[in-house]
Amino acid sequence: MRTAAERALGVHRVLDPPGVLPQAAQRLDADPAIALDEVRIAVERLNLDAASFRQLSEAHGGDGDAVRAAVLEIVRTRGKMQNPVTGSGGMLMGVVDAVGPESPLGLVVDQRVATLVSLSLTPLWITDGLDRWDGRSEQVPAHGTAILFARSIAAVLPDDLPDAVALAVLDVCGAPALTARVVERTGARSVAVLGAAGKSGCLSLAAAAAAGAQDLTGLVRNESEAAALRAAGLADRVVVADATDPLAVAAAVGTPADLTVVCVDVPGAEHGAVLATADGGTVVFFSMATSFPAAALGAEGMAADVTMLVGNGYTPGHAALALDLYRSNPGVRALVDPRVTGC
Ligand code: NAP
Repeated sequence: MRTAAERALGVHRVLDPPGVLPQAAQRLDADPAIALDEVRIAVERLNLDAASFRQLSEAHGGDGDAVRAAVLEIVRTRGKMQNPVTGSGGMLMGVVDAVGPESPLGLVVDQRVATLVSLSLTPLWITDGLDRWDGRSEQVPAHGTAILFARSIAAVLPDDLPDAVALAVLDVCGAPALTARVVERTGARSVAVLGAAGKSGCLSLAAAAAAGAQDLTGLVRNESEAAALRAAGLADRVVVADATDPLAVAAAVGTPADLTVVCVDVPGAEHGAVLATADGGTVVFFSMATSFPAAALGAEGMAADVTMLVGNGYTPGHAALALDLYRSNPGVRALVDPRVTGC
């Protein structure tokens, strides 16, 4: 029998291996029948995390049918959408379908919500074979059910934004919130963002500016992203380099930044990020493709005195901050909208 605190974390849904937390589990029980402290969501759309989608797409040579089959197989065997290679998930939106009488989440049946806890720990049951998805986009129209625990979080979807936009912004809302927090707490003046034309990247630039940073560098991978970022007006300086080439990143960024935020969706950006950061500065690794050994050993090997933060997807107020940055900033909208299916 699990304690209330253990149940709140979802330990009672773990099938294999017993006793671990749901995120670390191989397999969850995704049975749609809810317990007294759970909430069931009727799923409408999944948002696969960018690093996971890229890995699946590359592994299957861009074959959408094969990607769809792989996602279905992961969900069938694991009871959750957790990419076994990247370990990451994403999040989902849907309608609150049933609320257990002891759920503390304050959700009400028929509310439209986005889950703000990762798919990598959310019990998920797919019923439509993902037959409306071509396997070529991060956003996945889906029917099925998902379960929220007592310690899960969900945001009620705003009615002034398209669902697809809200979902994409909420998926990465931890990045701008953490960027703002570091700027406010450390007084960082200069900020470099790797992958600055992506969703989390442009939101992080906007958050850094709003928090008081004054020298913003956006690093992107090619000239077309550079043109888009310049037009968006979110960075004081736009530089082009491969984020996985440390020397190229250091040369492109120039004077190291007080804060570097890693928002790329590919592995191998750790060393460039460390080199781009001033002594005494901070690196936020928001990217799910980050390697902890590469970051830690790389910084040690370069005798770099930098504070390295894992990009916790949760910071209080993160959802509202990200949605407000999107609403209030035309540059953010110009970069996010083209990346969102159905927008
Ligand atoms: P996104 O919109 O796809 O943006 C990623 C950006 O990085 C794109 O502009 C991409 O360029 C660029 N990029 C890729 N490879 C590059 C390279 N070698 N050099 C320079 N730029 C490069 O992704 P996102 O949704 O913002 O997600 C970014 C990362 O955050 C992912 O790793 C994702 O898994 C992670 N994430 C973390 C959390 C968390 O809680 N910590 C939550 C959600 C997502 P192209 O478009 O040209 O490829």
